Amino acid sequence: MKRYFIHTFGCQMNVNDSLRMSEVLGKLEYRPTPVPEEADLIILNTCSIREKAEDKMLSALGRYRTVKLARGTLLGVGGCVAQQEKDKLLKKVPYLDFVFGPDSIVKLPEIIGRVQGERERVVETAWVDSEEYVFPRADPETSRGKVTEFVTVMKGCDNVCSFCVVPHTRGREVSRPFPDVLAEVADLARVGVREVTLIGQNVNSYRGGISFAQLLLRTAEVPGIERVRFTTSHPHDLSDELIEAFRTQPKIMPHFHLPVQSGSNPVLKRMRRDYTVAQYLERLEKLRAARPGIAMTTDIIVGFPGETEEDFALTLELTEKVRYDNQFSFIYSPRPKTGAALKEDEWGPVPHEVKIERLERLQKIQRRISGEVTAALVGQEVEVLVEGPSRYNPLKRFGRTPENRTVNFDGDAPAGSFVKVLVESATPNQLAGKQMAVLSPPTVMPAAEAPQPEISCVVA
Ligand code: SAM
Ligand code: SF4
Repeated sequence: MKRYFIHTFGCQMNVNDSLRMSEVLGKLEYRPTPVPEEADLIILNTCSIREKAEDKMLSALGRYRTVKLARGTLLGVGGCVAQQEKDKLLKKVPYLDFVFGPDSIVKLPEIIGRVQGERERVVETAWVDSEEYVFPRADPETSRGKVTEFVTVMKGCDNVCSFCVVPHTRGREVSRPFPDVLAEVADLARVGVREVTLIGQNVNSYRGGISFAQLLLRTAEVPGIERVRFTTSHPHDLSDELIEAFRTQPKIMPHFHLPVQSGSNPVLKRMRRDYTVAQYLERLEKLRAARPGIAMTTDIIVGFPGETEEDFALTLELTEKVRYDNQFSFIYSPRPKTGAALKEDEWGPVPHEVKIERLERLQKIQRRISGEVTAALVGQEVEVLVEGPSRYNPLKRFGRTPENRTVNFDGDAPAGSFVKVLVESATPNQLAGKQMAVLSPPTVMPAAEAPQPEISCVVA
């Protein structure tokens, strides 16, 4: 029996792609191992959203080279760097056996066969045409014992944000037909999953036979599913219909990740984001009116080409005004072939030390706001979906509130239960407390808690 190890970089899309790879490899009678040194096959599922992610991937490849030298392990690179670099990657890394893009996951058996049988170094990075693309269906058995799961509803992106490499690495938007999505959700519910997150680069432009709002409403009606989430949305197609779904369907969780990227209109224009700060705020206010108390999170890029101190001050002002629950903030990283990278000299690169200093200022403000938001919850009772033991202390339980806040607490409810937790203390990113009552038991009793589905994935 051969063993494989998958090292996953980047976002939830990549984690999901790694799961699909595991399923394909399982059919080849490969088994997962959590120890790369024991693997006969190592795959790096890569991310190229920022340069740092690419650097991390190259240094990991260097480490796995010693495994290859010791036991003849096959080494492959998939994901966005593979799609971007194609055969250049084989030239750059002479000990690499194969390179495959996100559309070639189903071809892994053939690729591995060619590498082993014909001693060939293989590159498979062709796109599958939109009309012909078939989304790989998740095997629900790999989710047995899990409480929350991700379900892919679309791939690719038709936007042209000038900083972003995704349209180059993931191709045109393709939506998954809604009956397929709902069938996968129903399969997951049958093995005990109670919360699903629908994922895509820009789920608001979903076109799989019904609107995205309708897809959310239909997902919420699947028996056994109690919580529905989604990510990511682009503000420019956030429809009134979607906002209305938040008003009418309580199973759609009160958390919205709405990346704004900058608080300055001239910067947004150069980013080609197609909205102004006022339009963004109008959508956000409407959402807050539809679902009072909804938690808002966002993504921000600092140091975008031409960003002045005044532009950055507007991002700080927006942060204070919205009072986000949390922000994911990044230093601008020029990406190959993107509009902003090509125009960086013309617009004016921001010096690295200025980018770092701005990032620190922004993160300090957000930490304070997040701390104030969570501190206000101390002494209150919150509803928590229990996911299992706490990562920090196995004697405690771990779960999330409807607003997606993480909670570690004293209690005994099994994974899949809904409980009331009294919040006793809080940090900017976490709540802690004790279980006061069990609201509902799991739909499927977990056989044992510790072993999660075996997928030997390391996410970095
Ligand atoms: N589709 C999502 C949207 O439209 O907001 C974003 C997906 S992207 C994988 C996640 C985040 O990475 C973006 O929101 C942006 O903040 C950040 N990002 C993308 N390209 C970047 C770059 N070149 N430099 C720094 N951050 C970047
Ligand atoms: Fe990238 Fe913009 Fe598409 Fe998001 S919407 S994936 S930031 S191009």
